[in-house]
Amino acid sequence: MSDHTEKFQINAPGRFYVTRACIGCTLCGQIAPDNFRENMDQSLAISHSYVFKQPVNETERQLCEEAMYTCPANAIRDDGTD
Ligand code: SF4
Repeated sequence: MSDHTEKFQINAPGRFYVTRACIGCTLCGQIAPDNFRENMDQSLAISHSYVFKQPVNETERQLCEEAMYTCPANAIRDDGTD
């Protein structure tokens, strides 16, 4: 059984990341489209999102935080270090 707190390796290195708790609702990509993207890998049983780019300015950082607080699965984490 996979650990739901485990981060996907596909996340861009940095403070924000998506864990295996993701249910693939795509909400984060709608809130912060410059930072979150859906993994379209056809071999996956269930699609999930991931951080494809860490925020590079204050606006992006705030949108990443909004996505984190809005995520219905509590799957987005911020370890607080860049
Ligand atoms: S908002 Fe949360 S559950 Fe929905 S796709 Fe993003 S990380 Fe996954």
